[in-house]
Amino acid sequence: MEERFVQTLPAITVYCGSSPGQKPIYAEMAAELAHLLTTQGIRLVYGGGSRGLMGVLADTMLREGGSVTGVIPDFMRDLEWAHPGIQDMRIVRTMSERKAQMLELGSGMITLPGGIGTLEEFSEVVSWSQLHIHEKPVGILNVDGYYDSFLRFLTHMLQEGFCPPATADLMLVDSDPQRLLRRMAEFRHHRLPKTLY
Ligand code: AMP
Repeated sequence: MEERFVQTLPAITVYCGSSPGQKPIYAEMAAELAHLLTTQGIRLVYGGGSRGLMGVLADTMLREGGSVTGVIPDFMRDLEWAHPGIQDMRIVRTMSERKAQMLELGSGMITLPGGIGTLEEFSEVVSWSQLHIHEKPVGILNVDGYYDSFLRFLTHMLQEGFCPPATADLMLVDSDPQRLLRRMAEFRHHRLPKTLY
């Protein structure tokens, strides 16, 4: 029988590029993740955009009958960046409000390939997790090694004494969406704020 994760993870927030990236595999994995969330009955929470990997995620969920919540600032909606097919679109004023809502609405966060915006979103939730502001699982879906050089930099941070091992423990990295979801469902925060490491 297929493993079910919806009870532990009723909604997943996904951070990803508003660009599609160079390789088709990035969009393929975004679609695979959307398919997995839909078949699991897990709601997608995302930034509400219609372009790039954000668009692929939302389009796939909608086509397959999945539940989607978008969170978008009014200035992006005014630029017509909002996905027109999303019923549950939350309009916020600022990027900070958007990130706060996306964190609030998700039971866990998954980071797909993306650019600076994605990195900002990922970094904030890990930083807030190490401060014990939340204790939700934060995952990286490392598609085709996209994040390998970033992960090497994190190791460098660790070796140079700026990132405690306890913080590294708060990031779950996997190349397989199903396995990542299972690890997120099993995740337990160590509950140490960084000041006490
Ligand atoms: P990036 O990884 O730099 O493509 O940024 C992804 C994030 O940037 C999204 O979650 C949004 O915060 C924002 N963003 C940038 N461009 C767009 C867009 N065209 N539509 C919606 N969100 C966007």
